[in-house]
Amino acid sequence: MKLVKNVVCPFCGTLCDDIIVKVEGNEIVGTMNACRIGHNKFVHTEGATRYKKPLMKKNGKWVEISYEEAIEKTAEILAESKRPLLYGWSCTSCEAHSVGLELAEECGAVIDNTASVCHGPSILAVQDVGYPICTLGEVKNRADVVVYWGCNPMHAHPRHLSRHVFSRGFFRDRGRVDRTLIVVDPRKTDTAKLADIHLQVEYNRDYELIDAMRTMIQGHDILYDEVAGVPKDLIEEAVETMKNAQFGILFFGMGLTHSRGKHRNIDTAIMMVEDLNDYAKFNLIPMRGHYNVTGFNQVAAWESGYPYCVDFSTDVPRYNPGETGANDLLQNKEADAMMVVASDPGAHFPQKAIERMAEIPLIAIEPHRTPTTELADIIIPPAIVGLEAEGSAYRMEGVPLRMKKVVDTDLPSDEEILKDILKKVREIKSGK
Ligand code: SF4
Repeated sequence: MKLVKNVVCPFCGTLCDDIIVKVEGNEIVGTMNACRIGHNKFVHTEGATRYKKPLMKKNGKWVEISYEEAIEKTAEILAESKRPLLYGWSCTSCEAHSVGLELAEECGAVIDNTASVCHGPSILAVQDVGYPICTLGEVKNRADVVVYWGCNPMHAHPRHLSRHVFSRGFFRDRGRVDRTLIVVDPRKTDTAKLADIHLQVEYNRDYELIDAMRTMIQGHDILYDEVAGVPKDLIEEAVETMKNAQFGILFFGMGLTHSRGKHRNIDTAIMMVEDLNDYAKFNLIPMRGHYNVTGFNQVAAWESGYPYCVDFSTDVPRYNPGETGANDLLQNKEADAMMVVASDPGAHFPQKAIERMAEIPLIAIEPHRTPTTELADIIIPPAIVGLEAEGSAYRMEGVPLRMKKVVDTDLPSDEEILKDILKKVREIKSGK
């Protein structure tokens, strides 16, 4: 058995880079250091369908087709479509993103990633009021006050706490005991159970709570004995702890981006962090979900000027979330063809969007059987980045890391598949 060290986990935005992978022959048989979710990504789950050949639905039945035919049919669909949508991208490499953007430009498509159903509201807020961010290394070495707001890393980013909060840092050599942990969540989550202060905010009322905290931070009193279900003295305790921090960090997640107010919740959270900097050093980091959701936004921004929801249907790229997001285009029945890369909207989009996906030609570049592949007309299976293909990825706060290839496969990478589709689309468009 061979041990491959310093492997980067291709699952969540924590992007752990200390995984040891056990390989027998050409098969991954185990891991060390990975959490349960990461381990399951590395070790093929018994019984899960892994596609080895491209498939196409003919007369309602799946038929194996050649790779060349799959590329040709996909290119024809995209070239003939008037409003194609290229969606997904958060579980593949930046190199694939780059080709995807070129393909979107060639087809006059809209290209969008999972940010539009995740931290898209955070991007809108950052564009409004700024981005006071730091790296996770700074958190580990400096932070003495850590706030998790509307996120539950014990379940969603399982090694986030052990790598960056419980760990000993340069100026925090006693680890957890050197830090005060504040959790804001309506539920008593497994993360909240670890907190020194738990603000059990009422669901959908985070904006009010942040507003009350900003009022206190700015030196004013609040008129109520409780705000959003949280007693005033507990809010005061949290505010004093945050104001007295030597180095504070606010991590935030779907509890803010998906509840009432959405991007306005993040706007006011960012402004609270800016207010705190009159007293303390304070930063924030969004708990980005997929391991390379951040990478797509980086690549799209430096190639087109916009991070997601990018519309190439006119001569210059346009950006208008609310109009050019994947859900907008599907639910308004604008998209007339869709290609999904490294994502599963069939499982995670609302019913109205899925109904449209079932009506239009759908291509899935996807290794496993998923609700999306059930709806697809063409399935092209790729090598999995981080296991069978290498590439670049960006951690939740924007640190780039190199994903390793651990075992071999005959399957092409997402990047290679997209390059072949792009070449074919160009041939069709030039009339060859
Ligand atoms: S915390 Fe995230 S990146 Fe780290 S091993 Fe678990 S799933 Fe992978």
